[in-house]
Amino acid sequence: MLSLGIEGTAHTVGVGIVDDTSKILANVYEMVKPAKGGIHPREAANHHAERVVPLIRRASDVARVDLQDIDIVAFSQGPGLGPCLRTVATAARALSLSLGAPIVGVNHCVAHLEIGRAVSGCKDPVLLYVSGGNTQVIAFARGRYRVFGETLDIGVGNMLDKFAREAGHGFPGGPILERAAKEGGKLLPLPYSVKGMDVAFSGLLTAALNLLKKGERFQDLAFSVQETAFAMLCEVTERAMAHIEKDEVLLGGGVARNLRLRGMVDRMARDRGARMFVPPGELCIDNGAMIAWTGLLMHRAGVRMSVEDTVVDQRFRTDEVDVAWR
Ligand code: AMP
Ligand code: MG
Repeated sequence: MLSLGIEGTAHTVGVGIVDDTSKILANVYEMVKPAKGGIHPREAANHHAERVVPLIRRASDVARVDLQDIDIVAFSQGPGLGPCLRTVATAARALSLSLGAPIVGVNHCVAHLEIGRAVSGCKDPVLLYVSGGNTQVIAFARGRYRVFGETLDIGVGNMLDKFAREAGHGFPGGPILERAAKEGGKLLPLPYSVKGMDVAFSGLLTAALNLLKKGERFQDLAFSVQETAFAMLCEVTERAMAHIEKDEVLLGGGVARNLRLRGMVDRMARDRGARMFVPPGELCIDNGAMIAWTGLLMHRAGVRMSVEDTVVDQRFRTDEVDVAWR
């Protein structure tokens, strides 16, 4: 069985093809890089509309699979930016109808978790999902993926991107800060905002920008932003692991590429006799393969959708998904 998945919740449009053993046959993507400022939803959607068909062709070439042999067409139904979601949903509907293959709408956050389970060997992890727009601590409990903690304002990736941008650097900011942090070492005081199981980053962002204006070095601030934000994430992840007694932690989302975050989570996990798992980088970021794989799991579990069921949901909650395949 072959599943083709189309991802397009935000800045990345991607197409992946996987088989029913979770082998990834193709995983190609393109990302909007705004010349200036942040992502504009309409511009990103236009980019996705232009690139999605060539990406579908490229995925079929890379996988050496004829599109006629695709059994399932999956797409990212939410959460995400409305215009982007509608664009990829339209592409998925058209492909599904033209191939006569069933269509499955997939929750993007659940897909990050499922691809991690499939490729990294963990069985029942707490997922620390850290991306541009999302920051959530997710785990399986009583038939659903439940959100144990999340950001109360912006995603951690957005915070890193905004800090880098305001400091005059390019996009994405995360890798720029990671490099700069290696040349920093002075830990500057920044707000550490953990509220119960939730975190908040906008106060930290404002404080870091103020310190930059006051003349603190960008490298020291990059270091301090990482140390503070990642410590907050470790704290809530550890509390979730303790509370629901899980001994695996999985990283997902673009920020999971960060080696300092990995080091801190790994240390936390080991200290409590648990293990950390990280999917390869191209499966951490937004990608079509994770959508294809989750769509396949859903289809195998009997999930069927009519075109009417494929309306996108910008605020699609992780815990709305009935996890019929577990
Ligand atoms: P996603 O939204 O999951 O596609 O991930 C994109 C986010 O990941 C952006 O906010 C990037 O700045 C961030 N990111 C990518 N690489 C790194 C890195 N090495 N360190 C920190 N953040 C990163
Ligand atoms: Mg994502």
